[in-house]
Amino acid sequence: MAERLYGGIEAGGTKWVCAIGTGPDDIRAEIRFPTTTPAETLGQAIAFFRSHQPAQLAAIGVGSFGPVDLNRASPHYGYITTTPKPGWANTDVVGVLTQALGRPVGFDTDVNTALWGEWRWGAARDCDVAVYITVGTGIGGGAMVGGRLVHGLIHPEMGHIRPVRDPVRDPFPGICPYHGDCLEGLACGPAMKARWHTPAEQLPPDHPAWELEADYLGQAMATLLCMLSPERIIIGGGVMSQPQMFPLVRAATQRWLNGYLQHPHILNSSEELIVPPALGARAGVLGAIALAMAATEGY
Ligand code: ADP
Ligand code: ZN
Repeated sequence: MAERLYGGIEAGGTKWVCAIGTGPDDIRAEIRFPTTTPAETLGQAIAFFRSHQPAQLAAIGVGSFGPVDLNRASPHYGYITTTPKPGWANTDVVGVLTQALGRPVGFDTDVNTALWGEWRWGAARDCDVAVYITVGTGIGGGAMVGGRLVHGLIHPEMGHIRPVRDPVRDPFPGICPYHGDCLEGLACGPAMKARWHTPAEQLPPDHPAWELEADYLGQAMATLLCMLSPERIIIGGGVMSQPQMFPLVRAATQRWLNGYLQHPHILNSSEELIVPPALGARAGVLGAIALAMAATEGY
């Protein structure tokens, strides 16, 4: 029997990454291109999969920017729904890929998908309950409980929880068009740029921006630990590539919990609880490959 290969799509609002393979040590082909119109972008993905051993392709997985419809009973299952990204509202992703490629398509949010990959091959391998957060152009989070990704009513939107903002310390009102000073509104990369009038990557490591950023993320970590009791929280995204951030976020988490949750990983600000993605920059596309594998197993 021919070897089975899997296709993964990291479908981001800025760029798409497509890959074919069977895991982190076996990527046979990879392509990345900017997100333009739905027709052109989906067309480029389809052309890539058609040109690489299509007979061996067992399934495709897609980790998508959102919001997305994950309800299999919905007529819009597999759509990107109400995104403000121009041209992309109500885009059928799963239907178009299924029709063009004739293979099962696994579909989930970008963060749930990254978490799925980290659970299969990376930093969440041994976990029953785990969370993946990205802090980049936006803030999003996915959760896994008992080996299943959490969907529920729609899917988690962890970037839009409300941290406490001290208006004296931080008069910046936030940039979320829906909530102003929700977590994303206060702490995503573009919020940092708007508050400090400098792109986040140009702020020096000793700038007060990082302590404030870590404080908001620490509040979110404390909330997640109280709500879900995850064994691991993985934080990815451009903003977290600053090396000073993980120690600051761990310390802020401990501060906000104030000794209430009695576990050594929390009381000691353990490096095992709040961690970077083990799959690095490939977490997204590898998660999509893992989702494709799950799709062939009826997940
Ligand atoms: P996306 O969220 O679009 O997938 P990223 O995770 O790279 O992409 O997030 C982009 C955001 O992260 C931008 O707001 C940018 O300013 C910020 N960013 C990127 N690299 C760094 C860095 N090294 N340090 C701090 N912020 C960064
Ligand atoms: Zn919001």
